[in-house]
Amino acid sequence: MKTFYHSTRSANEAVTSKQAILTGIAPDGGLYVSDQLGQATLELSEVVSSGYHTIARNVLSTLLPDYTADEVASCVAGAYAENFDTPDVTPLTAVGSDWLLELWHGPTCAFKDVALQMLPRLMSVARAGEAAGGGVMIVTATSGDTGKAALDGFADVAGTGVTVFYPAGKVSDIQRLQMVTQRGANVAVAGIRGTFDDAQTQVKRIFADREVAARLAEKGVVLSSANSINVGRLVPQVTYYFDAYAQMVQRGVISCGDAIDYCVPTGNFGDVLAGYYAKQLGLPVGQLIVASNTNKVLTDFIQTGVYDRRREFVKTISPSMDILVSSNLERLLYYLSDGDCERVASWMANLSGAGVYTLPNDVMDRMRETFSCGFATDDETRATIRSTWDEQGVLIDPHTAVGKCVLDRVPFEGRQRVCLSTANPYKFSADVLAALGKSVEGLDGFACMDELEKLTGVPAPAQLSSLRTAAVLHDTVCDQAEMSDFVEAACERVFA
Ligand SMILES: *Cc1c(COP(=O)(O)O)cnc(C)c1O
Repeated sequence: MKTFYHSTRSANEAVTSKQAILTGIAPDGGLYVSDQLGQATLELSEVVSSGYHTIARNVLSTLLPDYTADEVASCVAGAYAENFDTPDVTPLTAVGSDWLLELWHGPTCAFKDVALQMLPRLMSVARAGEAAGGGVMIVTATSGDTGKAALDGFADVAGTGVTVFYPAGKVSDIQRLQMVTQRGANVAVAGIRGTFDDAQTQVKRIFADREVAARLAEKGVVLSSANSINVGRLVPQVTYYFDAYAQMVQRGVISCGDAIDYCVPTGNFGDVLAGYYAKQLGLPVGQLIVASNTNKVLTDFIQTGVYDRRREFVKTISPSMDILVSSNLERLLYYLSDGDCERVASWMANLSGAGVYTLPNDVMDRMRETFSCGFATDDETRATIRSTWDEQGVLIDPHTAVGKCVLDRVPFEGRQRVCLSTANPYKFSADVLAALGKSVEGLDGFACMDELEKLTGVPAPAQLSSLRTAAVLHDTVCDQAEMSDFVEAACERVFA
């Protein structure tokens, strides 16, 4: 067994990557990291003549070394097939003198598909060595987007099931329809009476309930999470940083070896951290630009060295970036402090206690060698959506617009620059339509899609427009007290 990963907060217990993927979070609350990150690198001259699947196989084999080459190959072939609407998986398009890396061609039209189409397959393979019967039940609370991406990723993957709770009446029509029309014999979806935070709190309670765990264990079932701190979500994201680079070399925009910059619309810090991993694997990365919305904890942190979550949470038009505690940052702190678990643990204790921690200057200097930052307000985001459409004829979603707004302000340093585009604009039709100066009063989600299509001539993706006629398969709405029973019933049914 190749033990490769251990917690950011203590190096005593090492686990294989399969174990890390099945467990998600380390028992001491830390995140799984590897001290071997950067020891093996990818051969750049090979990468630049490769396609997405080959690059993905190389990245996965390097960062998940206990998966065999055959296992990796079958996971990659399954994750990135017809479920993406282009064989390029993550195509690159020009916008002015910069580039957009379109990460939203998967089944749910958001970048989380790139990882969530892969994670279930990695989990399924990791479980294959274990006793027959039973399986892993993923339980997720969602404010809208992650739930659908998890449902689609786990649907009908052997040895897994997925249960999603959303706050009834508090997600958009389209988001609700995306979830309640989900097909698959191993999926369960319920609305709950309460908020997203209520759903999240109950899910955490279910995970911590020993009686539930004991009853499920008798059937060989364990509960797990598809949260973005899982290494099985982080690692697949490294691929597209390399792939973007390969696409630029293949188009003659850069020569092999030239450094390029990436600007990343950021929430939980998973996506941009994957860029840092790519750099450790040998990709010539200049700057990684961390773009935030009004919840600009990370901008303040990178500028001052003080991470302070004690501030008002603001709801913005880029909701997937409305986050005050960016969990994946803990992994970066581990690497920047040369693997000093004790220091990482004490910073994290300060964060959960006082709500604030301060990094020493030497650590911040190392961070700023690679990371820069900026933020955009909702008004600036809307103005960017409008100017990008008016001046470049490119339609972008609010998350991507935050990235582009920040990138446009960064002085050009002579390197090519890629802005990661994290969602299809039609996922946020109403806000995009409004940003283009149209009234959305009285329009439902589908009417906004129609209007946006008429106005721009950009076709709405079939994944979203087909929801109009899809059959509703999940109509349960339950009280918070009933969530635990709902999970157990789903386990009973899925792993019978
Ligand atoms: C999740 C998400 C982000 C933020 O990604 P992190 O890995 O959490 O930083 C940005 N844009 C969209 C559309 C997302 O769904």
